[in-house]
Amino acid sequence: MKVPIVYVNGRFVEEPDSRIPLLTHGLHYGTGIFEGIRAYLDDRTGDLLLFRAAEHFERMERNARILHMRLPHRPDELVAIACDLIRRNGYAADTYVRPILFKSATRVGVTLPAEECFAMMAVPMGSYLDVRGGIHCGVSSWRRLADNAIPPRGKICGAYVNSALAAQEARDRGFDEAIVLNEEGRVAEGAAMNLFLVRAGRLVTPDSTQGILEGITRDTVMTLAREALALDVDERPVERSELYVASEVFLCGTAAQIAPVIRVDGREVGGGRPGPVTVALQNEFEQLVRGRSDRHRDWIVAVYDRPAPVSPPPRSGREG
Ligand code: PMP
Repeated sequence: MKVPIVYVNGRFVEEPDSRIPLLTHGLHYGTGIFEGIRAYLDDRTGDLLLFRAAEHFERMERNARILHMRLPHRPDELVAIACDLIRRNGYAADTYVRPILFKSATRVGVTLPAEECFAMMAVPMGSYLDVRGGIHCGVSSWRRLADNAIPPRGKICGAYVNSALAAQEARDRGFDEAIVLNEEGRVAEGAAMNLFLVRAGRLVTPDSTQGILEGITRDTVMTLAREALALDVDERPVERSELYVASEVFLCGTAAQIAPVIRVDGREVGGGRPGPVTVALQNEFEQLVRGRSDRHRDWIVAVYDRPAPVSPPPRSGREG
């Protein structure tokens, strides 16, 4: 197998050469931030299409401030590095890019030391969850972290202990995924996904003050709902019991994409199969990320820069 190439502090190196000292601050204390970005195969051209990579790096740039950190490059430069990384690895199928910025001091002591390391990895990644028939979710006994404990909007490494506890508990209890409530007992999100429900023909999602990550897929879903499906979208606090009476529920995120939820806490949602709004959004999303939609072309960067096929001119007159 080919050795993966990774990017560390300004250099591309073979992955086994990218050693991190055992005393690294980020390893012990979770003092880092990260992102997850997907590149989707466009099977008409064989190109890989990075989806909303600039927005991911812009979010990372903002989140760095929470931990007194600075990204070493501008978001547009980081998009170029992500493309270069995928090309150097020669990937030709759906790929997941993981940038990380962490405190790299090797001293014992819990403050926010100045030393930082920025790295980026790319791994092939197909579906994260098998979502064809819809998934079963359970409300977690673990609460989402409060903003003044570890801000969930920060995508901070250490905060993912909370996600891991919830996700593992869900699987141990026989669910596919967790739904996590915030400190007030309102619905926040999935372990590492945002949550939507459909009630009375409106799309509803917890607002950005409910202890959520302000997801880029969440924003994409809201945009597609408004533009392609002409649906109203409400960002507001969501109560637990709304999950039980909703006509549709789904989770969304870069890794999971759009995952229909067909059972919550053993209660069937919307007839126990993916609902029409969820399926329509899945289709719109798939068209968009695979480069088959005319909407928001600026959200896509072609990694290998292969030209899109020219569509045949419209037929005129009768044939034959
Ligand atoms: N919430 C959490 C806690 C996450 O980790 C993620 C994945 N990044 C999401 C939501 C979805 O965010 P995005 O659509 O930006 O991937």
